[in-house]
Amino acid sequence: MDTISGISPDLLDRFAAIVGEGNVLRRPEDIAPRLVENRGLYRGASPMVLKPGSTEDVAAILKLATETRTPVVPQTGNTGLVGGQVPRGSGTDLILSLERMNRIRDVDPVANVLVAEGGAILADVQKAAEGVQRLFPLSLGSEGSCRIGGNLSTNAGGTAVLAYGNMRQLCLGLEVVLPTGEIWDGLRRLKKDNTGYDLRDLFIGAEGTLGVITGAVLKLFPQPIGRQVALAGIASPADALRLFEKASNLCGTSLTGFELMPRLGVEFTTRHIEGVRDPLSEPHPWYALIDISTSDSAETAETMVHALLEWGLETGLVRDAVIAGSVAQQKALWQMRESMSDAQKPEGGSIKHDVSVPVSSIPLFMEEAGKAVMAAIPGARICAFGHLGDGNIHYNISQPVGADKAAFLARWYEINEVVHGIVLSLDGSISAEHGIGQLKRDELARIRPTIEIDLMRRIKRAFDPANIMNPGKVVAIE
Ligand SMILES: Cc1cc2nc3c(=O)[nH]c(=O)nc-3n(C[C@H](O)[C@H](O)[C@H](O)COP(=O)(O)OP(=O)(O)OC[C@H]3O[C@@H](n4cnc5c(N)ncnc54)[C@H](O)[C@@H]3O)c2cc1C
Repeated sequence: MDTISGISPDLLDRFAAIVGEGNVLRRPEDIAPRLVENRGLYRGASPMVLKPGSTEDVAAILKLATETRTPVVPQTGNTGLVGGQVPRGSGTDLILSLERMNRIRDVDPVANVLVAEGGAILADVQKAAEGVQRLFPLSLGSEGSCRIGGNLSTNAGGTAVLAYGNMRQLCLGLEVVLPTGEIWDGLRRLKKDNTGYDLRDLFIGAEGTLGVITGAVLKLFPQPIGRQVALAGIASPADALRLFEKASNLCGTSLTGFELMPRLGVEFTTRHIEGVRDPLSEPHPWYALIDISTSDSAETAETMVHALLEWGLETGLVRDAVIAGSVAQQKALWQMRESMSDAQKPEGGSIKHDVSVPVSSIPLFMEEAGKAVMAAIPGARICAFGHLGDGNIHYNISQPVGADKAAFLARWYEINEVVHGIVLSLDGSISAEHGIGQLKRDELARIRPTIEIDLMRRIKRAFDPANIMNPGKVVAIE
């Protein structure tokens, strides 16, 4: 037996033979980058990375894995933030990377669908849609490296959920290899299909615990003709909510983004992120980033943004505002929002929460969480920002200035409990976008009704009787 992995060298060779030695990583230095996730929160061990080139390769790998009870962890872009794609520390898990399965199989601008392999990079899918004058609206900070299989398996959200929905709403059909090695071809292109249990919806958001997504039919949309991006300085989350209500009424589905940012976040980004500057002349306690896209004419977007900001200035809700005058300026405003998490890194430790509450409860959540966190850690610097329009706040807390980073981060779970307690009291969710993975598995089991966790376990056992598919993630089976 191989002493590091617990998997015999013979068995490793059998797996390698399926994809060919050239498509296998065995050397520790080659495997190392796949063993750690983006924020360094999880570090695992694995004797081998397998890079299949086809759905049939994936099927052969999983069949052998089930026969030999060898755990397999699917990994695509390795940008997940809850440790779902990281193998466990035991060294018993093989990593299955879909990076070679990155083709766009078909684009149909008449039916408005695109068929991609599970390893297709999100940015490449966006480009392929643009190539036929269509939009694939999923957009994330990680879009240059995350891949469709991971996007679907985490039911990714991003910046345009308000108008287009998350991955669940953007997918019509799937091709999945089951842990037993069977292939389910559900690559249907139908908008209407009421034929029994929705298997597709089970695999979306399953974080690789039920099977491997090898292909997907994705929805495309008309490209927007008009786009306006504005930044408004405001006094409070309550005012942001009133502005959001007005924006929804004025713009309807043309409102594609409504983001909330605190002053502290703007200070962090202007301090640490190259090229970001504060476009308003005076500081404001909060900021709303508003994105409006229209598909009829450019004038419609212009009329909407002016009507909204004029109303805001007249009512006093908006203290000052700027409208991006060019595509470069639009990108610059979004860069401020998208780099807010990175900008916290140089400020020391940061305890993070990816939560959602009903949209109208956001001001109350901010107030209660703020009080509780400051009582627990005086001097904590709360940098809570996010997709206000979706009720999703990235409630990040930077350490007090001069505090000991390790001691601060040691309080991660204690502070999570405080913030999540408030979220749950408001009927919210402890994971709005990033999923459960390893990070929130035990907490999920604690907070959800027993029947819900039990049903998840029964589904897992039905799909994966040998428990080889990303074991230890989402729900514990042992
Ligand atoms: C800078 C940055 C910004 C981000 N912004 C957002 C955001 O706005 N919204 C958001 O929702 N997320 C965001 N994320 C999180 C992350 O990018 C998404 O979760 C993304 O969808 C993961 O894709 P991936 O290819 O990197 O998947 P991975 O990290 O490789 O895997 C994620 C999970 O999916 C499983 N998996 C991967 N591929 C497959 C497959 N083919 N079949 C079955 N299971 C599979 C893995 O086992 C794992 O559990 C961000 C991350 C970063 C680093």
